[in-house]
Amino acid sequence: MRGAPAEAAGALGDPGLSVSAPPETRSPGVLSTRPPELSPADARRVARDLLGRDADVEPLESERDQNFRVRAGGAGDLVLKISNPAEDPAVVDFQTRALRHVEACAPRLPVPRVVADVRGGAEAPIRGPDGRSHLARLVTFVPGVPFGSAPRRPALLRELGAILAELGRALRGFFHPAADHELLWDLKRADRARKLLVHVPDAERRALADGVLARFEIRARPRLPGLRAQVIHNDVSRWNALVDAGGTRISGIVDFGDMVHAPLVDDVAVTASEVMLGAAEPLPAAAALLAGYEEVEPLRPEERELLYDLVAARLAVGVAISAWRADARPENREYICSDDPMLWSLLERLVDGERAAREALREPGAAAPVAGAADADALLVRRRRLLGPALSHFYRRPLHLVRGRGTRLIDASGRSYLDAYNNVPHVGHCHPEVVAAIARQAALLNTNTRYLHASVLDYAERLVATLPEPLRVCIFVCSGSEANDLAWRLARAHSGGGGALVVEGAYHGTTDAIAALSPGELPAGASPPPHVRALPAPDDYRGRYRRGEPRLGERYAEHAGEALASLRAAGLAPAACFVDPLLSSSGILDPLPGWLAGVFAAVRAAGGVCVADEVQGGFGRRGDGMWSFQAHGVVPDVVTLGKPIGNGHPLAAVVTSPAIAGALGEGREFFSTFGGNPVSCAAGLAVLDVLEREGLVENARRVGARLRQGLESLAERHAWVGDVRGAGLFLGVDLVRDRQSREPAGREAREVMERMREEGVLVGTDGPHANVLKIRPPLCFSEADAALLVEALDRCLARA
Ligand code: PMP
Repeated sequence: MRGAPAEAAGALGDPGLSVSAPPETRSPGVLSTRPPELSPADARRVARDLLGRDADVEPLESERDQNFRVRAGGAGDLVLKISNPAEDPAVVDFQTRALRHVEACAPRLPVPRVVADVRGGAEAPIRGPDGRSHLARLVTFVPGVPFGSAPRRPALLRELGAILAELGRALRGFFHPAADHELLWDLKRADRARKLLVHVPDAERRALADGVLARFEIRARPRLPGLRAQVIHNDVSRWNALVDAGGTRISGIVDFGDMVHAPLVDDVAVTASEVMLGAAEPLPAAAALLAGYEEVEPLRPEERELLYDLVAARLAVGVAISAWRADARPENREYICSDDPMLWSLLERLVDGERAAREALREPGAAAPVAGAADADALLVRRRRLLGPALSHFYRRPLHLVRGRGTRLIDASGRSYLDAYNNVPHVGHCHPEVVAAIARQAALLNTNTRYLHASVLDYAERLVATLPEPLRVCIFVCSGSEANDLAWRLARAHSGGGGALVVEGAYHGTTDAIAALSPGELPAGASPPPHVRALPAPDDYRGRYRRGEPRLGERYAEHAGEALASLRAAGLAPAACFVDPLLSSSGILDPLPGWLAGVFAAVRAAGGVCVADEVQGGFGRRGDGMWSFQAHGVVPDVVTLGKPIGNGHPLAAVVTSPAIAGALGEGREFFSTFGGNPVSCAAGLAVLDVLEREGLVENARRVGARLRQGLESLAERHAWVGDVRGAGLFLGVDLVRDRQSREPAGREAREVMERMREEGVLVGTDGPHANVLKIRPPLCFSEADAALLVEALDRCLARA
């Protein structure tokens, strides 16, 4: 907080302190004891004594000590620090030793260096003109102007964050018996500052700050002892962080007088509140600081969780101390309270917008403008040149995403989106446990499956334990396409056949062989290759047999018989039938009883292998079990896994019976360089752990049911909604131009998807007419997320 030159020259009048007892109890408080009163001539004498030669001195600002800039020739200027007479010498020693520690651990950090006097000492006792005793010491002068006077550019804020984190790191191994000294600015002791709120004249504001500190007391303070703690600077403020003359770089951090042993995150809260003060957009300023901090020192979730409370408490402590000091020194009120309007305004703003502020401070990257983010147009041009023409992008104005967390994605401008589309970050974007598991293993070892390693076996055991017999063998690859490609090779080898049955609209992957089995990829009107037959999608809303008719599943399944006969007529035996039981590319269809069982039975009877492609539907998305085939009451011969399996890490698997796994033939090797490597397996294991511990399959069921209800309620208000389908957190909203004719509203669905993006919610479209809104969020989607989605969709449909 602000230094006080007027006080440095005068005294914080002790008589005024009778207004309330000084809250520092161990010694007469340094905040309530007159600072030293050396004249420049006195200071010059002290400097000569310490340096052994003459020097010019010039008074500097200080709150409770007295500081002089010393020009003694030689390498650079120095600062002569005269301590407050109430300062415990042990606390001065604490500061000296801390600075020496930082110098030894992080010599490049721009902080003052302790300068020994001619006798080799760091602190010399002196007597002031009024007879009071002080400690005098010399440190190097750090050039720069206060950060508070420079424009708050994101790059500067990030740099400040990074330096703060580096300072924290440098202090990590330091301790001193005086480190736990009593300090009014120590947030662990915010209850003491709270008592000073009696000095706030405005009752409404007093109640506001008191409420903040009361909530802090209940909600945050009990959790502080559980946080990582160390000696921290505790006052990297707008005055103590310095910038160079151009205002482009941080040139130094000064004033180590408020150091204390405290939760590390307090340091972040202090500086976050400082950079927000007076900022037009406080939260992005704090977010930029946090981004820089986390580039050096990632915060832990429990620290993030408390940031809002700590920031608000720091501001409330600030107004309390300022009101107390103003009462103690009424003649200096104007100066002491000069920051008050900013402090109150920010405090009020944060309390009024608590929800948004809490979220922005909790989520890394929320509200953070990203420094130097290339603009989207330039990225598009480069992309076209470098990545070729065969790559499309979502949205007319493509989205440039830079961060993710849970169900949120952040774009380059700092805007946050609710992700209701991406199924790969299954347990939430950048889930810290998955990230940590990957990082841990990547730092230890990454090899391939030709060496022995336990994690691939642990992982295979965990996976097969979720699947029915005889699915007991896992073969690891890196993508869903590769898994299906291998499944197809195994099926051909095992069956001896060469034909395939697939479902209209289906997508199974990119390899040549699998693109041939993906009718959804065919140009409109084109037929599949000669060895492939596409079964009608079991669509009971728009298909050939519809809801209300008898034996729907069986009737759709009977087409398998026709398809097999057609293959036979072409001289082909079936090798495999590939089904994505979620029908995720065929318009998101509910399973019709008997359909998949009927298809599988027909294929098996003809000697083919039944493959369930769980690349989209696996790992509990439906909320009624781990695998989507379970909803159809079948057991496949081969299951292929991908997408969510590693929460974004490229991992995929084929799980099958020992008999089929051996079909490639004795002595034939199947080896994938990256498939099943220790890092991938660490990711896969972490996903299973998080799914289990966070109860995400059950969450998919519960939240999915609420979401579905919400979407169905929209059908009552918007004639656009023809049908709501799906299960768990995989839902489709079939948009129609006319409920009677069920004419698909493809163009309008696309428009709704665009508008939802403007609303800050990401959804997709699907189905042969691209008229089905595809809602497929990470499984950590909450009921609040679901409500937000439904509200946004309500507005978009109203405008459609
Ligand atoms: N199967 C299904 C059902 C899919 O949805 C996809 C990907 N969209 C794949 C296979 C192919 O997976 P990948 O892109 O990882 O190769």
